[in-house]
Amino acid sequence: MQSASIEAERAAGSPAALDTAAAEFRAALPETAVITDPQRLRTYECDGLASHRVIPAVVVLPETAEQVRDVVRTCAAHGIPFVARGAGTGLSGGALPHSSGVLVVTSRMRSIVEIDVVNERAVVEPGVINLDVTKAAAPQGYYFAPDPSSQQVCSVGGNVAENSGGAHCLKYGFTVNHILGLEVVTPDGELVELGSDAREAPGYDLMGAFIGSEGTLGIVTKITVRLLRKPEVVQTLLAGFPSTDEAGAAVSAIIADGVTPAAIEMMDALAIEAAEQAVQCGYPEGAGAVLVVELDGPAAEVEHTFAEVERHCRARGAFEIRVAADDAERAMIWKGRKSAFAAVGRISPDYIVQDGVIPRTALPEVLGRISRLSSESGVRVANVFHAGDGNLHPLVLFDDAEPGAGERAEAVSGAILDLCIEHGGSITGEHGVGADKVKYMGRMFTDQDLDTMQRVRCAFDPVGICNPGKVFPTPRLCGEVPGRRTGVHPLTEAGLADQF
Ligand SMILES: Cc1cc2nc3c(=O)[nH]c(=O)nc-3n(C[C@H](O)[C@H](O)[C@H](O)COP(=O)(O)OP(=O)(O)OC[C@H]3O[C@@H](n4cnc5c(N)ncnc54)[C@H](O)[C@@H]3O)c2cc1C
Repeated sequence: MQSASIEAERAAGSPAALDTAAAEFRAALPETAVITDPQRLRTYECDGLASHRVIPAVVVLPETAEQVRDVVRTCAAHGIPFVARGAGTGLSGGALPHSSGVLVVTSRMRSIVEIDVVNERAVVEPGVINLDVTKAAAPQGYYFAPDPSSQQVCSVGGNVAENSGGAHCLKYGFTVNHILGLEVVTPDGELVELGSDAREAPGYDLMGAFIGSEGTLGIVTKITVRLLRKPEVVQTLLAGFPSTDEAGAAVSAIIADGVTPAAIEMMDALAIEAAEQAVQCGYPEGAGAVLVVELDGPAAEVEHTFAEVERHCRARGAFEIRVAADDAERAMIWKGRKSAFAAVGRISPDYIVQDGVIPRTALPEVLGRISRLSSESGVRVANVFHAGDGNLHPLVLFDDAEPGAGERAEAVSGAILDLCIEHGGSITGEHGVGADKVKYMGRMFTDQDLDTMQRVRCAFDPVGICNPGKVFPTPRLCGEVPGRRTGVHPLTEAGLADQF
């Protein structure tokens, strides 16, 4: 384990080091793969969290794992920070560049290397678009289950880094449940493999540690994903309820009855209004909330459980239930839900996409408190979320042209996360901490928790050049003695762990 001074980590690339590195990149990469022109660099100044912007010093677009390795080696040799970027759709600023660092963009690494249905897996490069994996496997009756709403544009490398979820993760699990192996460039420029072709391997689950680490432990250059056989049938239902209370009660009743739908999504009145304006999805008129419930599996099973779901919805007050008769109707039902984030732009010039988790049973209580927060502050909040997972996505609306409106919206947004923590939940369900939620980490974790997590980061990245400044409020190094807040960690005190 290498130690380094705090100054080295936080100093970032000096102008001279960056010039040298850019020259080395030009020698090793295709001519168009190195960008230093200030105008062109602006293309990469933000991800989906456009309120945070930083222009990188250099952008590189490698085409092979070896090129990524060489770029990282150069960065490591010169002490230059680097940040990986896939499609840049992240909503927490995870791919926000470093102003004195290198942005490594994987958009030229889009090969689907292998579709192996016999072993139910595919091997892809990190820049491959999520939905393209399913498109490639579909002719053989297979698909890639993780389905973030951004799946038409986001990359599998980004999915791995964020451990992304989606509507169907209720039944099938998050990205982590669908990754079998990773090829990774470590922060010191070594190309290594994590995971194995076998389902189980001895030793620490380093791949598990890597998935969801938000680009802080290295750059993924190849991914072996699990493929699932397409279900025999899919049934989709849209139910209109008077309010989110009844819809929330229906969700709890369905799951308590032992039914695990592929997806249960909820939208409240304001989210429905936005979706109607944007895509005219024709949701039940006058609904205070809608549920989209999808079941999939063998025909006989789905037929039986679908009847149960309908019964629970009616018993909890659903006043209208529609069942998709074919794929076109199913697509229309999903269109309203999948367009909801962007649709909110129709009813508000600006909005914050919040992401928090609560236990499913706390839905009615927390939604009621969000509604009170909204009326007390005068800040409108639209709710659209993965109800089955208790993964909320409150959309906090404001008009930045109005003085103080942004700050009020930010305060409401933070108060919603406090509600999630208070109810035993989490400050992020699937969008990650990135740059945006660093400030909330201390609300959820103790200093000792954070310190322990950073020891893992230090083991991968002793000098702190890999996506620095993300996830942790106070970055620490392997050579850094826990600071003013931490004292001696209980594990160290018990002789179970060393202080690096
Ligand atoms: C409209 C919309 C809807 C969305 N819906 C969902 C949703 O339903 N569920 C969900 O989970 N997310 C959702 N997201 C968020 C986002 O799409 C996901 O987090 C996605 O996985 C990011 O992929 P990306 O390729 O855009 O990654 P980027 O934004 O480019 O990067 C995200 C993070 O991954 C790291 N990274 C990227 N590539 C690599 C690599 N090769 N190696 C190591 N680290 C890497 C970056 O450093 C950064 O920290 C949505 C976003 C939008 C805009």
